[in-house]
Amino acid sequence: MSRPSDRCPGVLDPHPAADGLVARIRLPGGAVTPAEMQALAAFAADHGDGFLELTGRANVQVRGLSEVDDTAIAGLRDAGLLPSGAHDRVRNTMVSPLSGRLGGHGDVRPLASDLDAALVDDPDLAALPGRFLFGFDDGHGDVLAHGPDVGVLAVDGDTVELLLGGRRTGRLVASDGAVAVLLDVARAFVGVRGDRWRIGDLDAESLAVLVEIVDAATRPDDADPIPVVPHDGPIVGWFDQDDGTVLLGAVVELARIPARTAEFLAAIDHPIVITPDREILVCDLGEGVAETVVRVLAPMGLVYDAASPWARVSACAGSPGCARSHADVRADLVEHLASGEAADLGDRQHWIGCERGCGSPHGPHLRVEAGPEGYTRRRTGEDPDPGHL
Ligand code: SF4
Repeated sequence: MSRPSDRCPGVLDPHPAADGLVARIRLPGGAVTPAEMQALAAFAADHGDGFLELTGRANVQVRGLSEVDDTAIAGLRDAGLLPSGAHDRVRNTMVSPLSGRLGGHGDVRPLASDLDAALVDDPDLAALPGRFLFGFDDGHGDVLAHGPDVGVLAVDGDTVELLLGGRRTGRLVASDGAVAVLLDVARAFVGVRGDRWRIGDLDAESLAVLVEIVDAATRPDDADPIPVVPHDGPIVGWFDQDDGTVLLGAVVELARIPARTAEFLAAIDHPIVITPDREILVCDLGEGVAETVVRVLAPMGLVYDAASPWARVSACAGSPGCARSHADVRADLVEHLASGEAADLGDRQHWIGCERGCGSPHGPHLRVEAGPEGYTRRRTGEDPDPGHL
């Protein structure tokens, strides 16, 4: 069956835009080592427009590339950021950003690592669409909220509940057996998907094939479903980890990290996590180091104040980078915030240059959309308000 083309860009198959090529780099679970951050900074500075853009699925993209040649690819590959060319676009593995460090019912990071290693080792799974999402929720409910195609929700340190088609299944499996089930479901999806992108798009007959796999490998949960325990508010600021070390969460203007700032992040030489809310977490820090990091990086544009509008607003590329855009969305947003009009911002906001709504947050938010007549605003799920901004 012929399928519509997969428009998600990769490194080897960058997407042409008005300001050059856009390459998206897979970061399973949003985890970035210092060496990887250094390689990303070099890639953006040497080949792109000098910025790392954070995506709503905790990946990174670089715009303004004239080409992605062997030299550019070699830098990413050497750092481990392109483990398999065939799986360049099979990359969406979301992990609760605080997993193993703060709260949650269990540490799901090892499962995500095991899954990605097996994924890039399986040629058949290179056929998964770029939109397919594996999810590993540690009990915060943050990954579950993104409706992963298949995934797990930690019940305790040894047991997980299977997620399928964005929902809890009430089926449990030992943690060390979970990855095999997820891979079996993904392989079966490749076989039955036809022209469907997501498990939620499948017809009942095809979905039943996947449900059968889950049922055969798991047992029913006889107890009450374990409640998720959400983290309250953005992960921005200073957080004491469960092991006594410190986690620093920051946002940057327009979710774009200048390459020079990325080099400083790499130089801290500690694990970094990019979150689906476009936060940058530097983890496992001693108190003294954490104080130094804030002192050095805050003047470079890292915002550690959870009350900052940048913790609640995001924007698509807009003009001039995107030819479809009705406005220079980013410049308009910056101007809007600078005017002070957004002092009582309240809502989560996403600004977009056309109806396509690239990068929209998963949850409820105020959608500020540019059109030929100016901007309209609407809360997701409501009719547009034509009042101009
Ligand atoms: S939402 Fe529209 S204007 Fe914005 S990046 Fe997507 S296609 Fe371009």
